[in-house]
Amino acid sequence: MTPDPKLWDEPGRIAALRRLEILDTPPEEPFDKLTELVRTVLDVPIAVVGMIDSDRQWFKSIVGLSGCEVARDISFCTHTIQQRTPLMIPDTTRDPRFAANIFVTGDPFIRSYLGIPLITPDGYNIGALCVNDTKPRVFSANEIAILSSFATLVMNELELRQTAMSDALTGAMTRRAWVDAAAREIARSRRHDTLSSIIVFDIDHFKQVNDLFGHPAGDAVLQALVHRCQSVVRENDLLGRIGGEEFALLLPDTDACGAADLAERLRGEFVGQPVAWGGAAQVTVSASFGVCTLDDSLGDVGDWLAAADRFLYEAKNRGRNRCHGSAVDGDRLRINSA
Ligand code: GH3
Ligand code: MG
Ligand code: MG
Repeated sequence: MTPDPKLWDEPGRIAALRRLEILDTPPEEPFDKLTELVRTVLDVPIAVVGMIDSDRQWFKSIVGLSGCEVARDISFCTHTIQQRTPLMIPDTTRDPRFAANIFVTGDPFIRSYLGIPLITPDGYNIGALCVNDTKPRVFSANEIAILSSFATLVMNELELRQTAMSDALTGAMTRRAWVDAAAREIARSRRHDTLSSIIVFDIDHFKQVNDLFGHPAGDAVLQALVHRCQSVVRENDLLGRIGGEEFALLLPDTDACGAADLAERLRGEFVGQPVAWGGAAQVTVSASFGVCTLDDSLGDVGDWLAAADRFLYEAKNRGRNRCHGSAVDGDRLRINSA
């Protein structure tokens, strides 16, 4: 057998799952239609699209059962993702891995299971499409093939979803996708009592770049800045294009000082290195930054963005190529750069 290191690369697997931006998102029709269809076609009571997070299985779609997640150590699908092939359990009561599982010994009394790993294009098993029955059952080769085809459809749907969420020119998240992610981060941060910050930035005098060098040069600048930004931020930080030449960075678990440092670093990166365009041309652009840490006075993403925007426009008004920042526990932390 050829070695398959990605099966055992848990940090890589979790990073691949995070890149999909799917965890804790609301139900979506394509996935719900698919599980409903699987249930009908395979004549099973329960069908699930489940993602295996570090310590839980989270359900993107579930029919025949309620709930949105289970602990990973009692999840059936956590076994499925340890292999590339379907996992079939014809009788859970006869399998030592599952006989004592609470879903076997108690409600919903699962007696049989078929799960297909959901594999990303870069080779990580991020979850499984699975069905359960309350009676023992040997799934036929044909049924396994059908469920495998549905698993491919789940992956196609996840990819389409990703494409729709990212801006075609720069690859940053679209405004809508970023706002949704920021709303989830507000809920997460309040639940776990952690600090989160955002940075908004707007390129200075960008109209002049278009006027002097042409629109395609402007496009190249946008792409280059996004690329630079992505190479500086952490894996969990999310960059969105929220306007033509205005961007927002969502920084989970980041306090005002950390966010201010990052803004300042980005500011320096932008002005420090001109963007090469069309051979001889070098386009130097700066940006103005507004930094805002979430606090109780900010009710939703709209409030958070508006607060960061006020700092951004302060930076513009004071001469551009600057960072202006927010407050921690009422203490104003002023960041004046350049
Ligand atoms: P300020 O420093 O006040 O932000 O000035 P500005 O010139 O950057 O701001 P303004 O809002 O006047 O102009 C923004 C420009 O960004 C105008 C618009 O044509 C350009 N723009 C927006 N989206 C794109 C894009 O996708 N590609 C290019 N090349 N230009 C874009
Ligand atoms: Mg601008
Ligand atoms: Mg603008």
